[in-house]
Amino acid sequence: MLTYRSKNRPVLKNCPLCGKLYADAGSGACQKCYNALRDYELEIKKYVEANPNCSARDIVKNTGAPLAIASRMIQNGQFAMSGKISYPCSKCGKLIHAGVYCSECQQAIQQATANANRLAQEHKLKKLADKKKAKEKSSGLNIIKILRGK
Ligand SMILES: [Zn+2]
Ligand SMILES: [Zn+2]
Repeated sequence: MLTYRSKNRPVLKNCPLCGKLYADAGSGACQKCYNALRDYELEIKKYVEANPNCSARDIVKNTGAPLAIASRMIQNGQFAMSGKISYPCSKCGKLIHAGVYCSECQQAIQQATANANRLAQEHKLKKLADKKKAKEKSSGLNIIKILRGK
């Protein structure tokens, strides 16, 4: 006789979609939401197969699925025809065909990261310079003290 034993023991979690407590065995959502999500994904897949040049907005309009689910599926590359479907940039909403952000937002993010790094570097150098100055000052005072003491 075969007995089924799950390797992953279910963990009690709050469903990220409805907030209800559920026993998670790796599905990432409660049974109800998981089923709804899977239904949406099937609908979306069917729709995209029939309309390979559709946009994420078309998907939402025609399947009733939340935009977040459609976008996530496209971003994950879950469609064979990905690269043709347009969906909104996660930052500004401009329609894109690949990645998470449009090229401008991607550039802006890279620029912001570079700026932040440069500022951090400048801050570090300034701190070092201040330290050096403070040291020079105190050693100068010491010399005066020593001179006065003599
Ligand atoms: Zn749920
Ligand atoms: Zn953008």
